[in-house]
Amino acid sequence: MYERLVAGVYVDQAAYHFDQAFSYLIPEALTKTLTRGCRVLVPFGRGNRKRVGMVAFIRPYDTADKTLKPITSQIDAMPVFGEEEFAIADFLVRTTFCSWFEAVRTILPNAFQFQVTSAFRLAKSYTEEELEAESFAVRTLFAFMTKERPADEVDAFLQADGCPVTKTMFEGYLKEGIILRVEKAQRKRKDHTIRMARLSPDAALLLDELKLTVKQQEVVQFLEDAGTASKEELLYFCAVGESVLKKLETRGILCWYDREVVYAADVSGVEEAVLPTLSAAQQQVYDGVLEMMNEEKAAVALLYGITGSGKTSVYLKLIEETIRRGKQALMLVPEISLTPQIAGRFQAIFGSRVAVMHSNLSVGERMDEYKRIRRGEVSIVVGTRSAVFAPFSDIGLMILDEEAEPSYKSDAAPRYHAREVAKFRILRHRAVLLLGSATPSVESFYKAETGTYRLFTLNERYAAAVLPEVYLINRSEELLSGNTSALGRMLQSEIRHNLDRHEQSILFINRRGFRTAVHCLSCGEVIHCPNCAVPMIYHKDNGYLMCHYCGHSVRYQNHCPSCGSEFLKLTGVGTQHLEEELNTLFPDARILRMDTDTTSAKGAFTEKFAAFAKGEYDILLGTQMIAKGLDFPNVTLVGVLNADSGLYSPDFRGVERTFSLITQVVGRSGRAGKNGRAYLQTEMPDHPVIQFAAQQDYPSFYEDEIESRKALIYPPFCDLCMVHFGALKEQTAKNAASAFLTILKEEAEKLQKPIPLKVLGPLTPGLYRVGGKFRVQVLMKCRMNAAFRRYLHQCLVRAGQDRAFRNVSFYVDCNGDLT
Ligand code: ADP
Ligand code: ZN
Ligand code: ZN
Repeated sequence: MYERLVAGVYVDQAAYHFDQAFSYLIPEALTKTLTRGCRVLVPFGRGNRKRVGMVAFIRPYDTADKTLKPITSQIDAMPVFGEEEFAIADFLVRTTFCSWFEAVRTILPNAFQFQVTSAFRLAKSYTEEELEAESFAVRTLFAFMTKERPADEVDAFLQADGCPVTKTMFEGYLKEGIILRVEKAQRKRKDHTIRMARLSPDAALLLDELKLTVKQQEVVQFLEDAGTASKEELLYFCAVGESVLKKLETRGILCWYDREVVYAADVSGVEEAVLPTLSAAQQQVYDGVLEMMNEEKAAVALLYGITGSGKTSVYLKLIEETIRRGKQALMLVPEISLTPQIAGRFQAIFGSRVAVMHSNLSVGERMDEYKRIRRGEVSIVVGTRSAVFAPFSDIGLMILDEEAEPSYKSDAAPRYHAREVAKFRILRHRAVLLLGSATPSVESFYKAETGTYRLFTLNERYAAAVLPEVYLINRSEELLSGNTSALGRMLQSEIRHNLDRHEQSILFINRRGFRTAVHCLSCGEVIHCPNCAVPMIYHKDNGYLMCHYCGHSVRYQNHCPSCGSEFLKLTGVGTQHLEEELNTLFPDARILRMDTDTTSAKGAFTEKFAAFAKGEYDILLGTQMIAKGLDFPNVTLVGVLNADSGLYSPDFRGVERTFSLITQVVGRSGRAGKNGRAYLQTEMPDHPVIQFAAQQDYPSFYEDEIESRKALIYPPFCDLCMVHFGALKEQTAKNAASAFLTILKEEAEKLQKPIPLKVLGPLTPGLYRVGGKFRVQVLMKCRMNAAFRRYLHQCLVRAGQDRAFRNVSFYVDCNGDLT
């Protein structure tokens, strides 16, 4: 007789309000091998469909456990979750109000993810004679089912035009057991490859017979012209959704093949394979942080160092010292600045002791890096947001560079901030967390100023390099005097100047596309996305109007969809338009445009940066992605085309973001001895934030901003907790928000000790509709402590059980942007 055991399992896709460790019997065969931290496959819910789960604990069997279902199978031979991972998952669940398995998914790298896939097959095979007497529909179905078919193929088959088999018929056979459902846990596709499309050999024949929709024709036309294209390219240039490609695939017209991508960290062009010698100012920061590390207590430091002051050199030295002491170091950088430049620099200095983790790696590469870390072969990790979960066992130092960057906050569940996870991890490791920035977040600077963090400052550029001269250009005056070009006269002549001297220029504009709005001059309408509350953007590259929120697109036509008038006016300037204007003004210049449209193919981003660094281009123009962290010595001119655009943002961080963006863009110029210039085009040259940014004056900006945060009660003077409600009908979303307000009130009355709380809502955000769903919000200004979390959790559980929330998706976002 074996000892009977029961496992507590957190299950994938469990709704928040009944998320818990569900009990399952451990079958005899697994009693020896199954441990806490292994993933399993379990039957779940009434239909007993299989789901992936994580074993959280194992306990003895009890007579009350008689009705429990057994675990189906064990996925991991060895546990993939250790004590720290469980602690982090618990932290994410408590602080971001996500479900347990959402936390599990986030902590494990992508390559470790399993998904349960369903397929269908016949219980036995049939001969043609056996089927002879059956109807055409039945014979079609059985012919299709001669091999095992994945669920999505079956769906496509049933929905195909002219398919004689109905869904009911299919389900009937499933019920009778003639067709069986097979479920497996499958590792996500490994991809060292990119998916490429081409027309199938039969396409020509099929095209004669089949009638294609306009969008399908578009794709076929494109492939006829181009031969092959990556999936991303097709989606963009044909302005279609994935469903169109899928349809063409099931109709046998388009087929996919995989092209190998060779990713090699580009270590060429890295000059210093040795560590820098620190300047006196840098040494002071280094000594101070080391002093903190010597105390072996969890502590946070903020390094405020102006652009070009050499923060990276300080990081490198500290990391070297950390690993010399036999500890591990983790360095996080924002999504946009993890270029081969940075990765290569680390690799050149620390060799194979570094693992690089970022979203440009293929699933397979990420898996390899993860395994190296777990095996202890690596002592340094450089990576983007999710690298904060790197499975290190003895961390000495964590660094968050550009700590105010929005990309450190996840915008899907769990909606965590890497800084908060880092602060949690250093407690266990008794490590130091170093936050660095030229423009720290107001929240962090406040904590440094008031003594929670230790503050270090570098207020001179390294090697006496001077900050660029900054000039403000008044756009309104320029327009009045008749210059309607996106580029002001000054900027034009400065670019010319740079071209003549063979120095590089960077132009920053925050909108991609060609024109940013289409106005009808007859009825005054602006063409909006039918699913979202935003104007459609005109893309000249593909001739489409596109929605940058949901991806909806329509071919641009010369008449207004509301009134039919042909008097349309395209306004606003995007990257494509600027590129065209530059081509006209400077036909001899080599121009590189970077925005998500030109860099969506894997590896394109890094290749382009490398090319610019090598001097293959004269002008780099682009969006946010070019603004920060880059260090190109030959760049001596920076232009910001619409410096003030962020100031109209409804978010309380809009001002901070504008200041940071301008400061950072300006900081790209004149970094290596050559004097730099920066031109800011603005309609509000007198606005204090523009003035502070032009002078790179963070302290004054901070003084100004902290006052207004205090007056209006925003972080750091409170925490913000936003509950979002989304529904297809506006009224449904509004009703849910109102019902939630009632729940908040009722639960507050039950509390023994009142908690300080200010509730605002229901609020309708400016972007009140996205992807066809209406959005309504409830905002809470609170103190995010244990008492508040328990209270909000209780309210969310009640909402999950309440009828008013049917057909409503809702989630909580803590201290995120108010959009
Ligand atoms: P930040 O990240 O603060 O904007 P960087 O670390 O990129 O600044 O440094 C700016 C420039 O100064 C870089 O070109 C860097 O190589 C150089 N630099 C900084 N510190 C040193 C040092 N101690 N020795 C040699 N070069 C340095
Ligand atoms: Zn009109
Ligand atoms: Zn849209």
